[in-house]
Amino acid sequence: MIKFENVTVCYNPHARHPDHAVEEINLDIKKGEWVFFVGHSGAGKSTLIKLLHGNPHTASHGIHITGKVLLEDIDITHLPANEVPFLRRKIGVIFQDFQLLAQKTAWENVAFALRVIGAPQQRIAREVPRALETVGLLHRAQARPNELSGGEQQRVAIARAIVNEPYLLLADEPTGNLDPETAAGIAAVLERINAERGTTVVMATHDHHLVDTLQRRVVRLREGRIISDEEHGIYHPEDDIKPSPEDSKSTFIEPPAKPKTDFGDAPFGGESLQNEAPLGTPENPIPQFNRPKG
Ligand code: ADP
Ligand code: MG
Repeated sequence: MIKFENVTVCYNPHARHPDHAVEEINLDIKKGEWVFFVGHSGAGKSTLIKLLHGNPHTASHGIHITGKVLLEDIDITHLPANEVPFLRRKIGVIFQDFQLLAQKTAWENVAFALRVIGAPQQRIAREVPRALETVGLLHRAQARPNELSGGEQQRVAIARAIVNEPYLLLADEPTGNLDPETAAGIAAVLERINAERGTTVVMATHDHHLVDTLQRRVVRLREGRIISDEEHGIYHPEDDIKPSPEDSKSTFIEPPAKPKTDFGDAPFGGESLQNEAPLGTPENPIPQFNRPKG
């Protein structure tokens, strides 16, 4: 279902010493699988997640990508920006910092994911409670984010991510802001979604409790390269250790800190209620993905 074919990403191709954020990534992920990306900070985990979320070009100017990222045989490596929202309808995503709309209730946060794609009210009324039920938060539907704990906010974010029944759920350090017990609860919710809905889960994490408890496939990255890929992996203490510059094959130059707005992969890929015409109209045509030949 997911294929990385010899993918290399460089965020600073014109620098005197360009760094490869990930290098020669080859990876095959099957439908329904659960895969952890582990590795030190800067190893390239988020870069792989962003590639799957479509068009990292919108997130980073000047980025250079070689190789191919395929999702259900569709080449999404260089998807035009106007096709990205359509891709993202099939992909749920959750982040470390939840990214909920502060002024909206849990219910409205989840409903928003359906409203932006023009779902009819009937479907919203049916699917929002179902998603909130799945994450165990139906009883808090009217609460706003500031009235919810971190774990509860992440549950709302998960409900929002799954309400459109995506076949792929991406998670970038989803338990990074949570204590171990709350994190375990989040993991249990994700496990149920993976088991009951068959949703493929791809998660970047530093959470060794989570990795060790679940014993799923572990893809281990070091300085942008896959150094191991185990079917029932566990966390290694050295996974957190960033190689020192002396260990590095090339001169390591710390890139400038990323501004927060650089995260161009908001859950809806820039979709908003204001500018979305109904799908299939001239303003909002159904995208024709370029299917690879053969
Ligand atoms: P991880 O998620 O494992 O911490 P990332 O994928 O975020 O790693 O980063 C991999 C490498 O790419 C790091 O060296 C990081 O500094 C660099 N990088 C990530 N995003 C950007 C960006 N938008 N611009 C420049 N460099 C970046
Ligand atoms: Mg990261």
